[in-house]
Amino acid sequence: MVTTFKGYAALNKGEKLQSWQYEPKPLGRNDIEIKVTHNGLCHTDLHMRDDDWNVSTFPLVAGHEVVGEITKLGEDVTNLQIGDRVGVGWISNSCRRCDACLRGEENICRQGYTGLIVGNYGGFADKLRVNADFTYKLPDALDSASAAPLLCAGITVYSPLRTYIKHPGSRVGVIGIGGLGHLAIKFARSMGAEVTAFSTSPSKETEAKEFGAHHFCNWNDAETGDYDLLLYTGSAEIDWTKALGLLGNDGVFCLVGLPVSTLNIPLLALVFGQKKIAGSAVGGRRFMTEMLEFAAINQIKPMVETMPITQINEAMDKVAANQARYRIVLLSE
Ligand SMILES: [Zn+2]
Ligand SMILES: [Zn+2]
Repeated sequence: MVTTFKGYAALNKGEKLQSWQYEPKPLGRNDIEIKVTHNGLCHTDLHMRDDDWNVSTFPLVAGHEVVGEITKLGEDVTNLQIGDRVGVGWISNSCRRCDACLRGEENICRQGYTGLIVGNYGGFADKLRVNADFTYKLPDALDSASAAPLLCAGITVYSPLRTYIKHPGSRVGVIGIGGLGHLAIKFARSMGAEVTAFSTSPSKETEAKEFGAHHFCNWNDAETGDYDLLLYTGSAEIDWTKALGLLGNDGVFCLVGLPVSTLNIPLLALVFGQKKIAGSAVGGRRFMTEMLEFAAINQIKPMVETMPITQINEAMDKVAANQARYRIVLLSE
């Protein structure tokens, strides 16, 4: 008997998603099958639909902030059980042998990791098959709708904050208050940092402070500062003279997005201030496990809007128009 999954696929590049049935890959010895209940919607799903990075294969079933319940176990899976509530994020496999993988930093695997929806079907479906080692059992204190966005947006900001916040009282600036930025404010505050939210929308001040920011600053008015870490979550081009002027000596400016493909940096401020410009993308198994635990203990939850998965195209339009406040979670029927 042929197994059939029911999903939502872009049949061709840039097309709206439509109902689509497909035969999943066979359940491997180390795989699990989950019944999907929730999907966080990430901007990357739109990039994949539109093949912006030339890695998409069609029909494309996107979805990489997946929460569900285990319904099948591969014969070698011993650490999970049928019925477990689990989450799956962007990384679905890696070499497991390089120094980075052995540290649990599969996001910088020297062989390159496998992206969940690169050459494989993702979470916008009734079921998902995935390697058990990149599946995370969710703490009871995290509800599924809150957990979903943590699996990509959450880990994306947690990794650099965890890496670069060295001590309580560190001065951290979060630039851009959206899906990533609002979570960054919450995590940085819980890690003991003194947090400033930067935005070009003054109307976000009240919310930023509710998320935990001590200070709010209009990016257009920002001049100089003494920040230990500036986390850039925006998509607009960066004024590097301003950025480096805000950064204190020995500070780190970290990008978690790709506003442009090249940088034009004033080197005098960089070199004499011993400043650093860094990049960061998602996170490995070590920080993923830790982040979920940290979020559960500190009750760090994204602000989400839920929509039924039948409205997936409307949800994608909303994300494209920057109207999600601050993350959309799609509920399965
Ligand atoms: Zn994502
Ligand atoms: Zn590796």
